[in-house]
Amino acid sequence: MPLRAKVASSVSRTAAALSRAAGRGDGSVIGGWIGLKIDPDLLAHLSTGRAIALVSGTNGKTTTTRLTTAAVGVLGRVATNSFGANMPTGHTSALAKAGSTPYAVLEVDEHYLAQVLEATDPHVVALLNLSRDQLDRAKEVAMMAQLWRAALVRHPDVRVVANADDPMVVWAACPPADPAQGHVPPHVTWFSAGQRWHDDSWVCPECGSTIQRSGEQWWCTGCPLRRPEPQWTVEDDGVLDPTGAWHKIQLQLPGKVNLGNAATALAVAAEFGVRPVDAVSRLGTVTSVAGRYAQVDRDGRNIRLLLAKNPASWLEAFDMADVAPTLLSINARDPDGLDTSWLFDVDFSPLAGRQVLITGDRAYDLAVRLDVNGVPFRHVRTFDEAVRAVPPGRLEVIANYTAFQDIRAELDRVN
Ligand SMILES: [Zn+2]
Repeated sequence: MPLRAKVASSVSRTAAALSRAAGRGDGSVIGGWIGLKIDPDLLAHLSTGRAIALVSGTNGKTTTTRLTTAAVGVLGRVATNSFGANMPTGHTSALAKAGSTPYAVLEVDEHYLAQVLEATDPHVVALLNLSRDQLDRAKEVAMMAQLWRAALVRHPDVRVVANADDPMVVWAACPPADPAQGHVPPHVTWFSAGQRWHDDSWVCPECGSTIQRSGEQWWCTGCPLRRPEPQWTVEDDGVLDPTGAWHKIQLQLPGKVNLGNAATALAVAAEFGVRPVDAVSRLGTVTSVAGRYAQVDRDGRNIRLLLAKNPASWLEAFDMADVAPTLLSINARDPDGLDTSWLFDVDFSPLAGRQVLITGDRAYDLAVRLDVNGVPFRHVRTFDEAVRAVPPGRLEVIANYTAFQDIRAELDRVN
């Protein structure tokens, strides 16, 4: 590395360590920020000589990054931004902290994919899904797909691993090749991770016609865009690889959603030459991811934490949760997005028949929503009150971002 990059990298590590020592989080954002101030090309310098995978999408990227890191670990040391700091400051800090590693797997905020592609020149990019996120901040889904597509046009050599079930992702992953410009079609490997949430992909991003669906298939009624045949699929409790071999997957993470994430991780690792048969046992070592899926025992209740931050991830959380008493908690602070009207995009009827408790700053918004869905509920003021209100056994907690952090802090305080 050039001298400036070495200095920047060292200062970045020191700043992150000081921030951690001062009890101000893991320090990755401030460390990366200072490093990039000293050397604006620091991320590019730190990426040189590493084989890198980027993982992006609206949902599932933290978990998929963790699973992919475990799978690629078959080959050697892997740098990763495991604390979910998924912007260039976080990537810079993660690579500076890891020192020299042959591999890196980085979770990337979908808005920053183009910038991080440019800086890191990755070997492979995994595109998971695109759906509406925080209403007051996120870009429109079609606009995000357009940004991804434009970024991939500028990087024809990157290998793409993409979700065949999401029309927006498929369109973004296949930019038109212009032979006159020397463009070649990108190398895409398709996986099937399912798509529970269809409301952001009824309209074809290519021609504006309606997208139709039947079973797992989808196609545009006005142009050739349709679901490509995936090479990696989930079947029963395992994953089928491109050779047709089936691998049983034993995860410590719940739900079919995470089997899809495991299939994605194996597909990305295969781009580095990892055989699925060598990686599957490592996937089972991943437990909770930044507190998500964490289980805590308290007063005879087994409490499990599920994070749900936008409509698609609420549907996934309902799918992962056991049929058991369920606490829902909603805040609308800055990291959550201030607008809670998205609650009306989510169908809460899967909760009918479960004991439902609600809490959080915006519990009354939830109350209105549940009432419209005809789901009975009880409002509780504190987490303690919720624990006392349910019988011994499983308590599922589904919360959005800051509500989730509040409950984690509450559980950490007692344990
Ligand atoms: Zn179309």
